Order: sequence, then structure tokens, then C-alpha cells
Amino acid sequence: MGAPSLYNTLTRSVEPFQPLAPPRVTLYTCGPTVWNYAHIGNFRTFLFEDLLRRWLEHSGFDVFHIMNLTDVDDRVIKAAAAAGKRLTEHTEPFAQAFFEDRDYLRIKPAHVYPRATQYIPQMIALIERLLERGVAYKGDDGSVYFALAKFPKYGRLSRLDTRQIKVGARVASDEYAKDDPSDFALWKKADAEDESVGAAWDAPFGRGRPGWHLECSAMSLDEIERRFGAQTLDIHCGGIDLIFPHHEDEIAQSEGATGQPFARFWLHGEFLNVRGTKMSKRFGNFLTARDLREQGVDAAAVRLLFWQSHYRQPFDFNDEALGGATEGVRRLGEFHERLKTSGGDLPELVKKLEAEFTAALDDDLDAPRAVAALFEFVRAGNRELDRVTSTKGTGARAAFERVAGLLDVLPTPKAVEPALAGWVAERLAARSQARKSKDFKAADAIRAELRGRGVEIEDTPQGTKWRVA
Ligand code: AMP
Ligand code: ZN
Repeated sequence: MGAPSLYNTLTRSVEPFQPLAPPRVTLYTCGPTVWNYAHIGNFRTFLFEDLLRRWLEHSGFDVFHIMNLTDVDDRVIKAAAAAGKRLTEHTEPFAQAFFEDRDYLRIKPAHVYPRATQYIPQMIALIERLLERGVAYKGDDGSVYFALAKFPKYGRLSRLDTRQIKVGARVASDEYAKDDPSDFALWKKADAEDESVGAAWDAPFGRGRPGWHLECSAMSLDEIERRFGAQTLDIHCGGIDLIFPHHEDEIAQSEGATGQPFARFWLHGEFLNVRGTKMSKRFGNFLTARDLREQGVDAAAVRLLFWQSHYRQPFDFNDEALGGATEGVRRLGEFHERLKTSGGDLPELVKKLEAEFTAALDDDLDAPRAVAALFEFVRAGNRELDRVTSTKGTGARAAFERVAGLLDVLPTPKAVEPALAGWVAERLAARSQARKSKDFKAADAIRAELRGRGVEIEDTPQGTKWRVA
């Protein structure tokens, strides 16, 4: 197994990563709130998590990836009420849209996508555990709160100055500022709006609905307890805006209930900005993945663009940068074609590429350095191929495909019209016939005919493959 190092927000340092029970890695990433379409800022975080997942798997780990869908919280309820819909009726199309966008961006699907509304019994059980252990209490407003004073470790992740905690002060909303640490709601008494959208459930401590922070604790603990008998995650991820209060509160609730560390590594991705301001629905400066898809942007360019900055650095989105990444993807595609026809082995360059690529990603997922190594390989490879003519082996192509495939930045093949596909199938059958009867002249003529219509073919042990160049 490889030995990646990762920056752990908990210790504020880069540490060698080892899971509790190798080779398995339990990875929990806070998923989208499906009140609306996710924007590409959200997807910057999901893409950094995709790279983490791919690199861990490449390093030999067996990753179990859990990503929740937040389908009930303050924002979802407000949006559903405004649309005059029931909760699920409102969220389901956005959940489906999220999966479509994920596939467009070539993000590997998580192994499970727990939805908050389907884990209400587990959330109720978790609150009961916290009440029993005396770290939660029922407020006089009918809601249940976490008692910060009963959990001295509160604030470790966000390095909160615990002197700021006002004992007994309470906060019911899902989002609040760091200078306002208070007892937060685990369960909120149902009001008329909750009832109107179907966001209210019966519980021993009163009819209500879960707080957002509680949802992630309950879903992640349930998944790892049930599947692996574990109470500690190997890695927990999200964007940096989740450090406080969301992840801080998740730690308090989970550790308050189990007495075990909740997660060993906490990884947080920096923001995607627009002219220095966080991309956000609230500021109206957002772009969705579907906007880009409709503009005909190749997902490979979006991926390459994001890999050009380190996940812990803020990154400013603009059209020139996306244009540059599009051009980069085109160059990668061109070089890939060259390697297919006359690649050779280029052993020195391959060795350098693989060493640099591995060193970069092992060093806290240094994607910009990995991308630089890939483009250096393209430059040096082109020079080398210009110089030598006889290039037999396929070593260079295999290495290039391994590296570009892990980053998943090769151009998306163009869609093929059914009529063209039918014609190609017919011509390939004729060529195969010609080759069988050793009429190589006819076979070559058909290859030329195909090329005339932009179709490149390649004979492999599995048969003849083709694509539109
Ligand atoms: P939400 O759907 O709002 O719950 O957010 C989903 C994920 O996107 C969370 O991990 C957030 O931290 C992250 N996120 C939100 N805005 C941005 C942004 N502008 N750049 C990067 N990540 C973001
Ligand atoms: Zn979460």
C-alpha cells in the first residue's frame, strides 16, 4: 500500500495516513443540500473528494465512501414551502439532478447515499442516547439541545476560544456564526411550516424534526456501526465553511454518544470564488454544472481547471481560466492520439512521470504538481517522438493513460450519429471479410474510406475498435 500524507484540520498538520483497519478506509463526505441545484463551488469540494477517493484506491486501500443527501433542514423546508410542495416532492428532482451532474463531471459514485428523511429512527435513537448520558436536555420551547458545558472538548476542531461560550445560551437555526457558540438544537419542535411540507415526526421527546448537524452524525454512525462494527470514521470531509459549526457539532454529538473519537482525519476544501467572493446561491454569483454542460463545456476541462489549484487554496473561477483548461484538455487528447499510433516506450520519461505524479499526490494531494508532471511528459514526449521514427512499444501510452485516467482529464469522445454507426459497422464487416480472404488491398482501401469520414480504427485482440477523430 502506498503512503499518502494528508493535511488534518484536527491537528493543523500534514500527517502520514493510515486507516484503523487496513486496507479498509471509511470515508464520509457531507453531501449536497437538495433544496436546489448544486453549483460548481459545491462541485469543487466534491471533486477534491473524488481525487482523494481515487488516490486512496490507487494506493491500495479499499475505500467505503458514504455521501449523505441533506433532504431536510431549514433551507429545504423554506424552499419546499415556497414552492407549495411536500418535502420529497420538492427534493427528489434535485437529488436526481445531482446524480446527473455527478456523472457529467465523472465523479465516482459513493457506495451509499443515505438521505436524512430515511434515518429519522436512528436520529431519534441518537438523541435518546445523548439525553441518557446527560449531554442533551429538553428546552422549555419544546426542542432538544446539546449542552456544551457537558462536553469539555467542544471547539477543538475549529480552535474555538471556549471562553466565548455563553453557558445556557441557545441557538435553534442550522447556521450560525463562530462568535456565537451556544447550545444547539438536536431536535426542533415542529411548527406550522414544518407540518405544511411534511417535515415533522413523532418522537418520545415531542413532535419535531432533526437539526442539520445531528443528521450527519446519525447517518455516518449508523452506516459504519451496521457495516463494520465501528464508531470511528477514518476520514471526514467537507468544504471549509463546514468546520464551524457543522463539523464541530457533529463531533460533539457523536463523541457525546459513543465516547469514541468520531473521525481521525478531517479534510476541508477551500472555496471556489468569483472575483474574490465565495460562490454561493446567497450572493447570486453562481454557475451550475448543468449551465456548463449546456454551454458544451467538456467535463474534462472542468476537472483539469480544478486540479490546477491545490484543494487548500482558494480558487477564482473565470472564463479565461476555463478556456485555458479546455485548450489543455485538447492538447492531452492530441498527444494521446499520437501515442496510439506511434507511442513507443520512452522508459526514461515514463519513470520520471510516474515518480513525480506519485510524489505529488502523496504530498497532501498536490494536484497542480501532478498536472505539471503530466504536461511535462507531453512536451518531452512530443520532442522525443519528433526525433525518433521507429516507435514500437506501448509503454508510453499505458503510463499516460494511467496518469491522465486517474485525474480523468482526457477529452470526452464525441457522440456518434446512429446512421454513421450503422455505416461503420457495415464497412468493418466488409473489411473483416476482405482480411479473411487475404485481400489486404481491399482492407486498406476500406480503412482509407473510413478515415475519409473521420473514423479511426484500431485492431485489438478483442476485435476492431473505432472512434470519430
Ligand atoms: P451544501 O449543499 O450547501 O450543503 O454544500 C455542499 C458542499 O459544498 C459543502 O461541503 C460545502 O462546504 C461546499 N461548498 C459550498 N460553497 C462552496 C464554494 N463556493 N466552494 C467550495 N465548496 C463549497
Ligand atoms: Zn454533514
